[in-house]
Amino acid sequence: MGFKYVHNLPTPEEIKERFPLSDNLKALKKERDEAISQVLTGNSDKFILIIGPCSADNEDSVLDYTNRLIKVQEKTADKLIIIPRIYTNKPRTTGEGYKGMLHQPDPEKKPDMNEGVSAIRKLHMRVFEETGFSTADEMLYPENLGYLDDIMSYIAIGARSVENQQHRLTSSGCDVAVGMKNPTSGDLSVMLNSVVAAQQPHDFTYRGWEVKSGGNPLAHTILRGAVNKHGQCIPNYHYEDLFLLSLLYSERNLLNRACIVDTNHSNSNKKYMEQIRIAKEILHSRRHAPEIRTLVKGLMIESYIEPGSQKVGEGCYGKSITDPCLGWADSERLIYEIAENA
Ligand code: PEP
Ligand code: MN
Repeated sequence: MGFKYVHNLPTPEEIKERFPLSDNLKALKKERDEAISQVLTGNSDKFILIIGPCSADNEDSVLDYTNRLIKVQEKTADKLIIIPRIYTNKPRTTGEGYKGMLHQPDPEKKPDMNEGVSAIRKLHMRVFEETGFSTADEMLYPENLGYLDDIMSYIAIGARSVENQQHRLTSSGCDVAVGMKNPTSGDLSVMLNSVVAAQQPHDFTYRGWEVKSGGNPLAHTILRGAVNKHGQCIPNYHYEDLFLLSLLYSERNLLNRACIVDTNHSNSNKKYMEQIRIAKEILHSRRHAPEIRTLVKGLMIESYIEPGSQKVGEGCYGKSITDPCLGWADSERLIYEIAENA
């Protein structure tokens, strides 16, 4: 045998029993899910902002961040629905490096996934309890969905997972918004095929069961830029890209044409400060063309307390240990600007 069984992990049911959600929060979750659904189905003009660090690496600084963010949400509630990125599992380009709180509750210590499943539940719950923000995370491992599915109002399928059948079928059984990213190659048909798959009902296997899903009408697209064969970034947030996606949507029989644009990753070439300009350009494109206005329902922004990024162990509070992020001062200013211009 090539690997050793280390821990039999608690099941999602056991974790939910250990860290149960209050009735108040269950009601709030429903309300937030409904508000987000209204935007994606075109029944509300609010604009969605999924914002927060690339990885939620530290409970204190993530809580500090989300406590700042809720004050901005309160002042922009007539325009924006903010969903904090609480990303606890990180796909890695080469498989090396920090893989998120699920793997390493303490980034400076050894992997401990037995502790990790509790740590990610505690973090998402603390954010929800202290701020009233239900959360967003990437569904990197579909079988782990049940650890967080009663707290998350937004799920992203990453660029490296979007062509995978288990991710697509599991998304078809989610009852909240699931965003399908374009793959790193930039092929828009892979992203749209993923939306087709997630919107249909399916029979499949899940955690040792034969299951049936109902199909998820809230499955939609996320543009995150691409990388060409020379390793160069090809952005896909420009007017022409958004227009093309609008055309591709009209050629397919999809429910709820809706797209979120990720301003970082291969759209900014990880030049995190460019996110400000990119966000403004997208708002301009929305104002220019009604097709784009109705298609682009929100933005995804990587933002934390300190700007940029650092290596694990450098110890700067509130600074990303994965992709570089906007700092808090710039983020706050940008959110108000988005609220005014969306
Ligand atoms: C991310 O959101 O941090 C991320 C890893 O995104 P992508 O899948 O687009 O690379
Ligand atoms: Mn990132």
